[in-house]
Amino acid sequence: MSTAVPAPGLPQLQAALGELSARGLRRERLTVRGFAADGARVLTTAAGELIDFSSNDYLGLARHPALAAAMAECAARCGAGSGASHLVTGHGAEHEALEAELAAFTRRPRALLFSTGYMANLAVLTALAGPGQRVLLDRLSHASLIDGARLSGAALRRFAHADPQAARRLAGTPFALLGTDGLFSMDGDLAPLPALAQLAQAHGAWLAVDDAHGLGVLGAGGGGTLEHFGLTVREVPVLVGTLGKAFGSFGAFVAGEHDLIEFLLQRARPYIYTTALPQPVAAATRAALALAVSEPWRRAQLAAHVQRFRALAQEAGIPLLPSQSPIQPVVLGSAAAVLQAQRALAAAGYCVVAIRPPTVPPGSARLRVTLSAAHTGAQVEGLVQELARACAQAGTA
Ligand code: PMP
Repeated sequence: MSTAVPAPGLPQLQAALGELSARGLRRERLTVRGFAADGARVLTTAAGELIDFSSNDYLGLARHPALAAAMAECAARCGAGSGASHLVTGHGAEHEALEAELAAFTRRPRALLFSTGYMANLAVLTALAGPGQRVLLDRLSHASLIDGARLSGAALRRFAHADPQAARRLAGTPFALLGTDGLFSMDGDLAPLPALAQLAQAHGAWLAVDDAHGLGVLGAGGGGTLEHFGLTVREVPVLVGTLGKAFGSFGAFVAGEHDLIEFLLQRARPYIYTTALPQPVAAATRAALALAVSEPWRRAQLAAHVQRFRALAQEAGIPLLPSQSPIQPVVLGSAAAVLQAQRALAAAGYCVVAIRPPTVPPGSARLRVTLSAAHTGAQVEGLVQELARACAQAGTA
């Protein structure tokens, strides 16, 4: 007797979509046509001009003219596309230069560019773990770490969020790799990296930290969560960074010891079997990296916005999580409540996107407010006023 489940047909897909709508979980895309010169306001097709409090453009670099100029100059010189994967003919001088600059920025021997952070995490997990081994991940790790662990064929165990004791309990059985976000994307808090580093070292396992949201933002030099904790390549051998957030561009990298990087280059399928990032994108990232280093006022301005936002929100009775980072979630609970709040904020000129399950655990739907150096103090103050109104309507403030 066959146990195969029949493939879902179109009627089943339509029923599933109907259910998403009924539960308030159907996603809609906001179409952005352009942006205002200050970089903080986006022009949308359906809702007009909105002040963007939902992007990951923490340093306000995504719309910086230096990035666009670097991209245009490089496109004229190198063309728009790479034409092939890195190991065929897609690897360019801009990639090479950016890798050297990222290695210097992260104070690591070598860095390897990836087309996306999602692929960088798949690469790390599938190259460093496999069937018969175990991988330990923080429960709130990014989906790409989890998918990478699944794809690796290793047994995946998830420990309670940011809880080194819980990780230690799972470490009774040998494990190959321990993975975590550095700064968590949906809660804005930090992983207990010093304790996790000790644990991984004691077991001779890899520690992989995805610092997509910390790099450029945390640490005096923008070195991220590792700089914040004073950790080096010895304690955290695998660092994953993304370039589409604080660096305002696109792509990702892994940085570590020379031979770890060489191994990924030789063996990681998400590196080998995909077209190389366009060189103009790498050129824009180089311009962003230079600005992230030479303009520390961006981090100072961002930190000031975080403090101001938290002080005003607390005064207004808006429920906050204990995050000191530019990610300031306002948890309202139900999908219906966050959707209503999102609409009210959009009507008032603010873009704050509702984040719902499965991106966050059931019952913890939230407005994920993100602050940027591109915002002005007045924009932050205006947001808090409208947020207070929206939370009051949702019955939480
Ligand atoms: N890791 C984390 C923590 C992220 O938030 C993201 C992006 N949302 C990624 C990885 C994936 O990066 P990319 O967008 O470059 O694929």
